Amino acid sequence: MNSVEALNEVAEQTAVCTKCELQFSRKVAVPGEGPVDAEILFIGEGPGFHENEQGRPFVGAAGQFLEELLASIHLKRGQVFITNVVKCRPPGNRDPQPEELAACSDYLERQILAINPRVIVTLGRYSMARFLPNAKIREIHGQAVRVHGRLIVPMYHPAAALHQPSLRSTVEADFLHLPEWMAKAGTISEISQEPVPEESQNHEQLSLF
Ligand code: URA
Ligand code: SF4
Repeated sequence: MNSVEALNEVAEQTAVCTKCELQFSRKVAVPGEGPVDAEILFIGEGPGFHENEQGRPFVGAAGQFLEELLASIHLKRGQVFITNVVKCRPPGNRDPQPEELAACSDYLERQILAINPRVIVTLGRYSMARFLPNAKIREIHGQAVRVHGRLIVPMYHPAAALHQPSLRSTVEADFLHLPEWMAKAGTISEISQEPVPEESQNHEQLSLF
C-alpha cells in the first residue's frame, strides 16, 4: 500500500469506526487533510462543532487563526497536513479521555508513517503528551525536540491563544521560528529522555542486580 492509499484507508475507517465512545457524538469523522508529502504535520486536539458538521479540521475560529499563523511564515493551509489526536468530536467539546486517545492512536500513527513529515507541530496538551508525556508546555513551547526519531515542536493551542492575549503573542513568536526548525531539522539529535521523576532516582541498590 502506498502513502496515499494509507491516508485514504484511515479516512475510510474513521468514518465508520466504533473503537470508542466518541462514535456516538460523531456526525462525521474528521480524519484530517493535506498533501501526503507535507513537510509539516499539525496535530490538534479533536473536532469541534463546525469540524463535526463539515468533516474538516480547524474550520472554526481556531482554524482562522491557524491560517493567519501559517500566512506569517508564507505558508498556505493547503501546503500542510492538519489532523487531531481524536478523529471524532467529544460531546460538548470536553477533553478526550485516555481510553479514547488510546483507541484512536493507531490512526494518527499510520498518518505519521504515511506523511513522514519533517516537523510535527503539536497544538495543545493532549497532542504534546503523545510525544512528551511529562513535558510542561510553558517550559518547552516553541522548542524543537526529537522524540523517537520525529522532530516535535510543541505549541499552545490556537483556541487557547485566541482567548488569552499573552498566549497569542507567544504562539505568534513561536510560529516565526518554525522555518528555522525546518531548516535545522536534520541537525537536531534525539533528546536523552525525559527527566527521571524524583522517586525513581537514587535507587542505588538497583545497580546491584
Ligand atoms: N480544535 C482542534 O483541536 N481541532 C480542530 O479540528 C478544531 C479545533
Ligand atoms: Fe474511532 Fe477515533 Fe472516532 Fe474513537 S475517536 S470512534 S477511535 S475514529
